[in-house]
Order: sequence, then structure tokens, then C-alpha cells
Amino acid sequence: MEKICVAVRVRPAVTEEASGNRTHWKVEDNRISLHRLHGTPISGVSYAFDHIFDETCTNSRVYDLLTKEIIHSALEGFNGTAFAYGQTSSGKTFTMNGSATDPGIIHQAVKDIFDRIQMISDREFLIRVSYMEIYNEEINDLLTLENQKLQIHESLERGIFVAGLREEIVNSAEQVLKLIESGEVNRHFGETNMNVRSSRSHTIFRMVIESKGKETSSSNDFSSTDVIRVSVLNLVDLAGSERIAKTGAGGVRLKEGKYINKSLMILGNVINKLSDGAKNRGHIPYRDSKLTRILQPALGGNAKTSIICTIAPEEVHIEETKGTLQFASRAKRITNCAQVNEILSDGALLKRQKLEIEELRRKLQGSRAEVLEQEILKLRNDMLKYELEHEKLEMQLEEERRSQREREQCIREQQMKIDNLSSLVTNSDCDRNSSEEKDSVRQRFKEECHDSNSICQRDVFTTPCFKAAPNAFVVKRSNNSRLSDYSPLLDSFSYVADEDTWMKLNKGHVTDLDLLLMTPARKELLPSNDVCSHENNEEVENLKRQLAIITEEKNDLERKHSEQALLNDQLTGEISVLKQEALLVQEIPRRFCESVASCKDIYEDILSMTQTFNSEGEFSIAKLLSGTCEIGMNILSTLETHFTMGVDVQKSFPLNKSLIQEQLEVLRGQLKNITDSFLSETICTESEQVKNPTYSCNNKEKLSDELETIKEKYHELEKNLVLKSQLLEVSEERFESLVKEFQVLKQERDSLLEKVAVSSQKLAEVTHRKENVLKDLNTEVQGRKDLEDEIKKFSVAFASRQQSLVSFCNEFKSNIEKLRAQNPVLVSKSFRY
Ligand code: ADP
Ligand code: MG
Repeated sequence: MEKICVAVRVRPAVTEEASGNRTHWKVEDNRISLHRLHGTPISGVSYAFDHIFDETCTNSRVYDLLTKEIIHSALEGFNGTAFAYGQTSSGKTFTMNGSATDPGIIHQAVKDIFDRIQMISDREFLIRVSYMEIYNEEINDLLTLENQKLQIHESLERGIFVAGLREEIVNSAEQVLKLIESGEVNRHFGETNMNVRSSRSHTIFRMVIESKGKETSSSNDFSSTDVIRVSVLNLVDLAGSERIAKTGAGGVRLKEGKYINKSLMILGNVINKLSDGAKNRGHIPYRDSKLTRILQPALGGNAKTSIICTIAPEEVHIEETKGTLQFASRAKRITNCAQVNEILSDGALLKRQKLEIEELRRKLQGSRAEVLEQEILKLRNDMLKYELEHEKLEMQLEEERRSQREREQCIREQQMKIDNLSSLVTNSDCDRNSSEEKDSVRQRFKEECHDSNSICQRDVFTTPCFKAAPNAFVVKRSNNSRLSDYSPLLDSFSYVADEDTWMKLNKGHVTDLDLLLMTPARKELLPSNDVCSHENNEEVENLKRQLAIITEEKNDLERKHSEQALLNDQLTGEISVLKQEALLVQEIPRRFCESVASCKDIYEDILSMTQTFNSEGEFSIAKLLSGTCEIGMNILSTLETHFTMGVDVQKSFPLNKSLIQEQLEVLRGQLKNITDSFLSETICTESEQVKNPTYSCNNKEKLSDELETIKEKYHELEKNLVLKSQLLEVSEERFESLVKEFQVLKQERDSLLEKVAVSSQKLAEVTHRKENVLKDLNTEVQGRKDLEDEIKKFSVAFASRQQSLVSFCNEFKSNIEKLRAQNPVLVSKSFRY
């Protein structure tokens, strides 16, 4: 048994805050006390510890005096833990991690371990490291971002461990420091009033050190080669305890602060309980937080532990400093029971990997030592990775099985409740003969309760300071090891941040977490052994019937609702198809518009041709043609305008077909007039031709050819126009019918939606009624129970009355007998019985 080693470290004062102090902390050897400015000590504020490091002390000195021994012991097979505790910005991270010029405890420990291994020539070592943080009560792997929210488990072979945590086998200090550096990046830091880079999580750097005696030709000794020493070394940087008012935390910071304070409070509870001494300590609430659960072996268990409590010297922090010193004083009273962990089983990685490594060694015989080492390291890490992967899968499987069991248990309980309820009803009019059976049920229930109590009692952790059996790493585990990790405290643990609680905690106050741990009493409906009133039964039956009807109604409504929802879906699908069709129809006028535009282009060509004729000579035919073309152009322009309008405002401004028709008529009339005048002018021209036959003959031929072509084109265009008008008409009709259809479907959908709303309302009403009925049923059942209790009481009273009556009767009889004996003649026979 040995006490935890506790030291206090005072960080250098921040200059501006130091001025104007009325008190100061004075360090003398291993004592720290509060003094007034002029030097007189303040009584009652003086504490002694294993070491006190003043502000001038370096990390190397802290390491040499406080931690070195633990590290060396770890190499010999003892578990070791060193952690820094203190308020925010008091120097915890500085102590554990250090700076470039003054490396912290972790760095020095890593270097020291590998230096020492070099010096121990008769043992073979296997070291693996992991780095995790507990942030907002969740465990995250700092060596890989994949492993988040890890769970704590406990097994016979491995003790308490974090499942799925990445472990890396290492063979040099540089390799470890690189891993730590990569892990630091993933750590949660945040800015508070008190520290611009405040650690918002607890970090645990863990080294598992395995070692075994090297096989030499002379060592046939079983113990030196087969026994493997396994030790776990935890180097912990806690997040700072903080008073919310001072850190000015809000939002995320406040939430983190609450979690930090919660876990520190539980750590305080564990420390306070452990410091009470073995007799009074009772249940130690390790399971209340992940931090204490992971540190369980280090706190009152199988480990050598040192705590460094960091304090800030400024007067503003005096209360927190006092709190930290009180915490340290309590921690000093804790005793641990560290012993070398020697195992023979496959619990050691060194043992599990032995065969494979030997095989590799054999294969690589002749290779240079360096290559061999690298290959071995690679193989070891690969194997470890597979093992961890395997373990993770097993955990998942186990989790799955557990939830399956829970589900089954739940179903069984429900079934039991139903059975109990129905037997309650059916038994109510049975006679007393069945009471024996019920008694046995009650007895069974009692036995069950007794069983669960005994399990609870077995689960209470006794001092985990036990002697290990020679061939096992862990001798005895709590039954809770089968449970996955949990924190039984409520989430709304808001009072944790309350400053009074925080201050009380450091003064040794133990928050009554056990009250919160109490599981609610098991509620079980037990069949009564008394007869229930007939009326009650009827009432219950009535309520049951009502309930059945309402349930049926509800089911019916639900079915209808789902049918309507299906119909609604179908309609919505149809509507979307129709919408697509409508879009296609809307496209048609645009296409017409385009073809009209191309017709217009042709007309324009003709127009320009005739204008050329016009400029070349004063021919009336050309004039005539140009007029015709202009008319054609007008027609086409009008058409184009209308089509464009039709495309733009399809719905609000439907195509005005009659207007187009009207204009077409007008233009046709104009065209006819022009053609007539053209004919008369042609006759005139012919008479002119008689005067100048050769010239006019040629011209006439040319012009008539051109006219023919133009006419052809014109007819073609007119035909096209008619065709397209027809098409437009058809598509317009289709569009209108689609719109109508759409309207009908919309109306239908609206009415269906209305119906659905109505039925939903009805459903809600029915559910409400059902709930009321259920409530009534419950009240009724309760009333019945009360009545049963009354009856029970009455029966007891009745039985006692009956008993007293019987005894009175017996007494009376004996008196009579006596009297008869005395006066045999006087007492008549009728008094005999
Ligand atoms: P904590 O981790 O307790 O919140 P830190 O270790 O982050 O506090 O320290 C807060 C600040 O004080 C840092 O800037 C750190 O460098 C400085 N500091 C703490 N302790 C010492 C010390 N012993 N010597 C020099 N600087 C220190
Ligand atoms: Mg820190």
C-alpha cells in the first residue's frame, strides 16, 4: 500500500495582475501558505505536500522529482499515472507538454523510457501508444479522426479499456513524439477570458509497456521467458476547472465548461470518497464519468499515481487556489496498491504475436538488423491493426446481441404485464382457493427482487486493491463488465456549473450522486388474493369494450387515410404529366411563329426583287407585284405578331382567331383589287406592245415567267398558312381541353385534401378519446387496487376479531366446563357447545 504522490506547482505571476496584491503565497520546502503583504501568515491557510515547486522551477525538475520514479516503475511492470489538476490557465498543459525550451513531462517520459530500454539488455520490450481526449463526455481518438465517440468496456483479459482506440506500436522516442504532434492538432482548444488557448477537453496519452526476459541459451527457466509484464502508463492533462463567471463563457464554451466541471466534480467525488479511508468509503462512483472510469486503476487501485496540482499566484484566483490545495490535500490521503502485472495468458500482445514474429525472423535471417527491426515493427503494427479491427467488430456484435436481449426482455415484460392485467380481471370473481397460486406468483416476484438486489450488491466496487493471481492480469471483474459504458447522470446537469457546488466540492463535499443513480422501483402489477367488487369488474369490462371499439374506429380511419393519401399521390402524378403536355402545346405557336417568319423572309426577297424592277423601269406589273408582296408581308407580319402574342401570354391573352380571319379577309380583298388592276394594266401594256413589238415581247415573256414563279410561291405560302391555321386550331382545342381537365383534377385533389384534413381531425379526436378512456381505465384500476387494499385491511381486522372471538369462545367453554365440574347438576346440557 502506498500513498498517491501529490505536488503543487505555482506558475509565474502575470505581471499586471501581480501589482496591488494584499496577500501572497509563500513556498517553504514542501509547505505552501498564504501570507499578508507585510509577511504575517494567515492562520489556517497552510498546506504541506510531497513537493512544492515554485515559479522558478523547470519542467525537468518536476519530472525528476515527481514522475521519473513512476516511469521507471512502469518499465518494471507497474501501472503508472501522472495527471495535472488545477484551474484554467494555472499551467497544467505547460507542465505536461512544456515548451520548445523546457519540454514537459510527457516528452521527458517518452525519451526516458527509450533511453532506459537501451540500458536494459536482458529484456525484450514492446511498446504501444494511444492518445485520446474526453470532450463533452465523449471519447475521441486523437491519432485518427475516424474513431470518435468511443465506448469504454471491461474484460477479464484487458481490464478497463477504450474499445476501438487506435494503438500504434513504436520503437523510438522520435516516432512517439511525431504521433503526439499529429494528435495535438486534433485536440479541442478554445479561447476564454483566462486563457487564449484553453484546453477544452481532458487528454490521456497512454503507453502500454510489455516486456519479457530475452531467451538465452542458458535460460531454460520457464518464469524468465514465458512470463510477460504488462503495464499501462497514463499521462493526463485535465481541462481546467472553471468558474463560469470568471471565464466569461457562453454558448459552446459554456456547454463545454459544464461538461468539464461535471467530470471534475465526479473526479472530486471519487477522490473525496477514497480519502475517507477504506472503512467509510462505500461505493466509489467511478462509473459516473468517463474520466474516472478510465482512471479507475490509478485512483485507489493497482497503480503508482502522482498528481501535480497547478495554481495561479494572483490574488484574484485565491479562492480557486484554495480549492485546488484542498483537493490536493484530500488526494494525498488516498492509498493505492500497486503491483507488478505478470501474465502468462494471451492477454499480452508480445505473447500473441510471438509465433508470427519468430517466423518473420527466420525468413529474414541474414538481413541487416535495421531492416529486420523495421519489418518486425511493420508486421507487429499490421497484426495489431487486424486485432483492433476484429475487436471492434466483436464489440459491435456484442452490442447488437445486447440490444436484441433487451428487446426480448422488454417484450417478455410487456407480455407479463398483459397477463397480469388479464388475470387481475378474470381472477376478480374467483374464490379464495386461487390465493395459493397468487401467493406463489408474489413469492416468485420477491425472489426476483432478491436476485436483482444481490446482483446490485455484487456490483458495488470494493477497494480494487487486490492481489493478482500469478497467471491472470485481472483476477475479478464486476458484473458490470458485461454492460457497455454509460453515464447514469441526467443530461440536464446544469447545476454543475453552479459556483457554490464547485467551491463545496473542493472543500471535500461529496455531491450525492447516488441519489441520482437510484433506478426507479420496479412497477409490477400483482394479482390480488381478495375478491373484487362485481361493479368494478363490469366497469372495467365496459371500458375495455369502449377501448376496443375506439381502437377499431381508429384503425379504420387510419386505413382510409392511407387510401386517400395513395389516391392523392396518383392524382399528383397525373397532374404533373398533364403539365408536361400543356408545355408541349404551348410550344406549338412558337414553332408556327418561326415558320411564318421564314415565309416572311421569302416575301421580303420577292419584295426586294420587285423593287429592283421598279428602279430599273416604270413597269406597272412590277409595281403591281410589289403591292402584292407588300400585302403578303402585311399578312405575315400580322400573323407573326399574333403568334408572338399567343406565345407570350398564352393563358391570359388567348389567340384571337377571328381577328386574324378578319384581317386576312381585308388583305385578300386588297390583293384581289390589285390583281384586277394588274389584269387591266396588262391589257394596256399589250396594246403598247403592238407599237414596239420586239422589246415588249421579250419583256413580257420575262415578266410573265417571274409572275408565274411569284404566283406559285404565293399559293404555296397561302396553302401553308391555311394548314398551319388548322393545326393551330387543333392544338388550341387540345390545350383548352387539357386546361379543363387540369381544373377538374385540381378540384378533385382539393376536395380529397379537405377530406384528409377532416379525417385527420377525426383521428386526433378519437386518439384523444382513447387516451381519456385509458386514463379512466387507469383510475379505475387504481381505485380497484385501493379497494382491494381496504378489503385486505378489513380481512386482517376481521381475522383478528375472529381470532379474539374464538379465544373468547374457548375461554367461555372452559369456564362452563369448570362450572359444570363444580356443579354438575346446575349446568344444562345445552351449554356444552
Ligand atoms: P492550463 O493548461 O492550466 O489552462 P496553460 O498551461 O495553458 O494553462 O498555461 C497558461 C499560460 O501560462 C501559458 O501561456 C503558459 O505558457 C504559461 N505558463 C504556465 N505555467 C508556466 C510556467 N511554469 N512557466 C512559464 N509559463 C507558464
Ligand atoms: Mg490546458
